[in-house]
Amino acid sequence: MNSSITHTNSCTLHTHSNPRSGLMAIIAIHSTKLGPALGGCRCISYPDTDAATEDVTRLAKGMSYKAALAGIHHGGGKSVLIRPKTFKNRHTYFEEFGEFVESLGGDYITSVDSGTNIEDMDDISHSTSYVCGTSNDGCTPSIFTSLGVLEGIKAAVRKKMRRQSMDGIHVVIQGVGNVGAALAISLEELGAKISISDINDATLNACLERMKSPDEVMVIPPDDVYRSSCDVFAPCGLGGIINPSNLQHLECKIVAGSANNQLSQESDGVLLHKKGILYAPDYVINAGGLIDVSLIPNGISEQEVTIKTKQIGDTLEEIFDRAEQENKPCHTVANQMAENILYH
Ligand code: NAD
Repeated sequence: MNSSITHTNSCTLHTHSNPRSGLMAIIAIHSTKLGPALGGCRCISYPDTDAATEDVTRLAKGMSYKAALAGIHHGGGKSVLIRPKTFKNRHTYFEEFGEFVESLGGDYITSVDSGTNIEDMDDISHSTSYVCGTSNDGCTPSIFTSLGVLEGIKAAVRKKMRRQSMDGIHVVIQGVGNVGAALAISLEELGAKISISDINDATLNACLERMKSPDEVMVIPPDDVYRSSCDVFAPCGLGGIINPSNLQHLECKIVAGSANNQLSQESDGVLLHKKGILYAPDYVINAGGLIDVSLIPNGISEQEVTIKTKQIGDTLEEIFDRAEQENKPCHTVANQMAENILYH
């Protein structure tokens, strides 16, 4: 067993490895200025430790910015577990990770992320109370993420299209898993015209089955999604999809969806701005799940969580207005607002 603490430019990194269990864990804490660092636990394959360290560091910083603009009393942190080829025992693996989280004394609180699930959170909870998103804490993060995205899309439509209603607004949703499907259903209720796309046919069909009028929903092949002319492009699949090769094809007025790290690089946000496409910064619009997992376990009612999540629309309105007044890309304005809270 081996544990260590190191400091990088932006984060404190706590590492723990145990060849017997196969656990190789890195917890990155970016900031605890606003409260204990909260962020999910990702358990995926990485080519090497450097790649895992880079990922966890970037994600932890993103969580600080997200919590700051969501008005949550939490700092930014994240953990990555370098996924073993096979788990010797998945339960004890996550219980051991729980012990590692516990050893930080509450500076970091973990939750679900890519490659982990509610059962894993239950196993972690056997060793620490610094975990949320377990089967009995009442959190439903995807529902609140989708609500926040809906409010964000409405704010963007008001700003860019001067329209108060979603009636007839054409939204293309890329990825109709937990968040995208819930978003499609809410938008349908508001009279929006919906197109959906997913690389997984079963997920696509499951979404269609939940829609009131599936015949009116257009299904777009994954490769054609960027060329689809629409009002709103809502990326709800994976990150990095706003990149130089896709950007030239985009024919939308607004980009607003739940996916994390939508911009492959900062300059993509500048290009969106130059093209006149209004971009709702990802970590602002997708904060509903964080709001849910940070408040519900502390006894805050769903009604209050709903109110706080809807405020994502107000925050985005402020970002859109400032971006217009200062002629700056929206992601730049959002970063400046978060940094004002975190560093001043
Ligand atoms: P999910 O895995 O349930 O759904 C994602 C869907 O996207 C899947 O059905 C997948 O097949 C599809 N997909 C992936 N790549 C695609 C592509 N190139 N084209 C079309 N479809 C594609 O995930 P989710 O929980 O709905 O989250 C969606 C996104 O939002 C993720 O990027 C996630 O990190 C982010 N996010 C989710 C939450 C949450 O509360 N669930 C919170 C914040 C951010």
